[in-house]
Amino acid sequence: MQKPNQRLLDQTCIVTGASSGIGRAVAKSMALEGANVVINYHSGKKEAEEVADWIQKDPICGDAIVFQCDVSKEKEVEALFKKTVSHFGTVDVCVANAGIQIDHPLHEMPLEAWQKVIDVNLTGQFLCAREAIKEFLRRGMRREISKSLGKIIHMSSVHEEIPWAGHANYAASKGALLMLMESICQEYAAKKIRCNSIAPGAIKTDINKKTWGTAKGEEELLKLIPYKRIGIPEDIGSVASWLASDESEYINGTTIFVDGGMTCYPGFATNG
Ligand code: NAD
Repeated sequence: MQKPNQRLLDQTCIVTGASSGIGRAVAKSMALEGANVVINYHSGKKEAEEVADWIQKDPICGDAIVFQCDVSKEKEVEALFKKTVSHFGTVDVCVANAGIQIDHPLHEMPLEAWQKVIDVNLTGQFLCAREAIKEFLRRGMRREISKSLGKIIHMSSVHEEIPWAGHANYAASKGALLMLMESICQEYAAKKIRCNSIAPGAIKTDINKKTWGTAKGEEELLKLIPYKRIGIPEDIGSVASWLASDESEYINGTTIFVDGGMTCYPGFATNG
């Protein structure tokens, strides 16, 4: 883990879906920067508690609590923010990371598979952003803590830009997330709220283990990555903590692609 700079000292950060993969790395990275972290989980209580233990054992880190909630459920997201404010006083950073894939060819996709992915990947992002903005506005500016009123980071995907056959529900959820993020920026930038997305490429986590988990799958995946390395969750964690800090204060309404060049259409490297 990279040496921290304590850029988020005295700030509180909610990370959804933080018991595994990218969310776990983001939670640790935020904590190493001095932030208090709320580790939201859906099903992985034990894993979430392990992340909290890891954070609490390191004196350089902020504090941590765990909180279960389904990000697609309005009342549960409200409860997540209520608990955060009652425990840590406020929220400074919201990383809406939780996301799922339920893959089917489009003509065989059950409505439930479409709806569930939209509920978690898009509605969940809306609910988290809405509650974060309410809290930022209620709390007001604390310039000694941060130059921004609050920071929202949506975990998007390269599939907000690259179409994805067999995964239309997922790609549609991430494409819509781009417009949600940009609209929030346009609506709240004057209040000094920053809203950005991170778009990971292929990162080794449970969500895509079927792809990178075999030698053949890994080989196929590497063909899509000009940098010739599959990403790791820490590649995203370090960008997220920087994006939450004042070092990136003037970045707003943008997606930062962290993908080893995947969005540069490597298939065209040999002239198509
Ligand atoms: P992951 O499966 O390890 O993490 C997803 C997390 O979301 C899990 O902890 C899961 O329990 C949680 N979750 C699922 N449904 C939830 C719900 N209803 N409420 C709250 N939490 C819920 O996979 P990951 O790769 O770490 O995915 C994290 C994010 O990164 C997702 O939004 C995903 O779309 C995005 N992403 C991942 C990759 C990749 O290559 N791994 C690429 C692009 C984008």
